[in-house]
Amino acid sequence: MDFGLSEEQTMIISVARQLADDFEEEEKRLEEEGLEQSDSLKKKLAQLNFTGMTLSSEYGGQGYGNLEAVLVLEQLARKCPSLAGIFHETNFGPVRQIDFWGSDYLKGKYIPPVCNGDTLISIGMTEPEAGSALTDLKTKAELRGDYYILNGQKRFVSAVGVSDSYMVFVRLTEERGARGIGTIIVDKDTTGFKFGRRERMMGHNTMAQRDLIFEDAFVPKGNLVLEAGGFAKAMLCFDVERVGNGTISLGIGQGALESSIEYSQQRYQFGKPICEFQAVQFMLADMTMMVEAARLLLYKAASNSGKGFPSRLESSVAKCYSNEMAKKVTDLALELFGGYGYSKDYPIEILLRDSRGWAIAAGTPQMQRIGIASDLLKRRFDQRR
Ligand SMILES: Cc1cc2nc3c(=O)[nH]c(=O)nc-3n(C[C@H](O)[C@H](O)[C@H](O)COP(=O)(O)OP(=O)(O)OC[C@H]3O[C@@H](n4cnc5c(N)ncnc54)[C@H](O)[C@@H]3O)c2cc1C
Repeated sequence: MDFGLSEEQTMIISVARQLADDFEEEEKRLEEEGLEQSDSLKKKLAQLNFTGMTLSSEYGGQGYGNLEAVLVLEQLARKCPSLAGIFHETNFGPVRQIDFWGSDYLKGKYIPPVCNGDTLISIGMTEPEAGSALTDLKTKAELRGDYYILNGQKRFVSAVGVSDSYMVFVRLTEERGARGIGTIIVDKDTTGFKFGRRERMMGHNTMAQRDLIFEDAFVPKGNLVLEAGGFAKAMLCFDVERVGNGTISLGIGQGALESSIEYSQQRYQFGKPICEFQAVQFMLADMTMMVEAARLLLYKAASNSGKGFPSRLESSVAKCYSNEMAKKVTDLALELFGGYGYSKDYPIEILLRDSRGWAIAAGTPQMQRIGIASDLLKRRFDQRR
């Protein structure tokens, strides 16, 4: 592995960094007013060719590898949760499943609007009774003529207010577990499809969560992405999603570290800047070690996977470590800021709140550890027995 970055990669980083700096105030406004992402953010990302930078160039994407997308996302996530969320969905999210496995029809229909910044696609996997035990999901899709009829409910789906389409994990046959599961795209104006109330979460305010409710929803059969039994293929795409998720945690940790370095030099107590106290220096050193370690794991998973699927082991190790890192680093940062860390007028508390959400989304750290152990021991541990 060589992490010596090319001139182009360095330039991509500086454009992303500048973008995050330019939009910091707009992001604060969205957060304060409890607004979900604005179209202007999607359009800004599209102007810079950041929406869909990992998607196939024949459908309007830029054809970049996972590493370039990680480099951008890390910069955005330092201070701009909405830009990071949109970038994540359009480069690591369910649209990658369409790019990897979708029919030409689906690619032609759904990828260009994502790249143009016109739309987002969210992912609907979780159900009230199927969270970590995802293969217990019950949402059914029954083929009737030219349509699948969907019935069921998805929980905690992100960005529902702003996405136009949903990659929904459904049960297509009576077979138990993963075997009967496939995926289908549902557009927001589909008959028999509605959203639940906006969840009142502790963070993630600009990518709010809602239920998806299907009551005899009619979905054209051409919208099927993966047939029953395609769950393993969907999980390969999820290895990509894990890298994106872990990268947002990396950006959150880096953001907290940068703010802490700055604050520790500005804040005076006992007549000197607090960075002159060794206890504060050690906090900064600990934060740096954790952020650097997470960065290396993520760059490794992204760089080894090129434009394809990261290994489950590398993506799980990177996501799990980076999620845990962001929780610890934002906690240290809050302590370093003292009372101001607890204040909404300073940048730390939102990073801390969001770090918790990203650690749960896309599989909890415990579930990552189960996958890691399984790969290490080369055995599958059935959690139901
Ligand atoms: C901010 C946020 C955004 C989200 N976005 C989406 C989205 O866009 N789309 C979507 O489909 N879902 C989304 N989710 C849902 C998320 O994927 C689930 O919350 C997550 O998978 C955990 O499921 P659960 O909440 O049902 O918890 P549970 O599965 O009930 O887990 C509860 C606890 O039990 C532990 N646990 C469960 N099983 C085991 C086991 N076998 N061994 C050890 N520990 C275990 C878990 O680790 C956890 O600590 C989001 C969640 C959040 C918080």
